[in-house]
Amino acid sequence: MNKLKKELLNDKNTIKFLEQIAGPIAIDVVKIFKKEALSPEMISKKLDEKITNVRATLNSLHYRGIACYKKTKTNNNLYEFLWEIKFKKIIENIHIQEIKKYKKIEMDINSKSTHDYFVCPKKCIEVPFEIAAAYNFKCPNCDSSLEMVDIKKRLALQKRKLKTTKENIEKLEILLEKIKDDTKGYICE
Ligand SMILES: [Zn+2]
Repeated sequence: MNKLKKELLNDKNTIKFLEQIAGPIAIDVVKIFKKEALSPEMISKKLDEKITNVRATLNSLHYRGIACYKKTKTNNNLYEFLWEIKFKKIIENIHIQEIKKYKKIEMDINSKSTHDYFVCPKKCIEVPFEIAAAYNFKCPNCDSSLEMVDIKKRLALQKRKLKTTKENIEKLEILLEKIKDDTKGYICE
């Protein structure tokens, strides 16, 4: 595995993303691919994981176009499925996710800059002043007293988040240019 792939798979965003879409062993499954294609049986043996877990993980990755397979004949004339990982697709998926996140933070910043907001300390609701007043400043869900959001602090925090997200998007775009998947003939979503 080359340096770029290693870097990608050690990144905490990648680890979190793979776990979200394909479960707890997804990162281990992806990491086990070096140069050659692998069957679920080989992965199961190498990781000492149940074959059913390996198959479920591969299928979830396949759904996102990250794990791809081909059917081949073995020496004893049986069919087996060999799998490959599309590393570029991992980055593409995370890239889309980060852009969505960026837009969401941007919208949040734009919508809240001029209003006072109230929030339930247990995070049930977050509402503007007028609605909080209509609730008598009590959470309609859990009856806790609503607390005023410090807009300045909140905005500063969101702007920091926006900046780190933007940096991350740029980093991913550089990776996208550099990384190559040279596996051919596999079936992907
Ligand atoms: Zn509440």
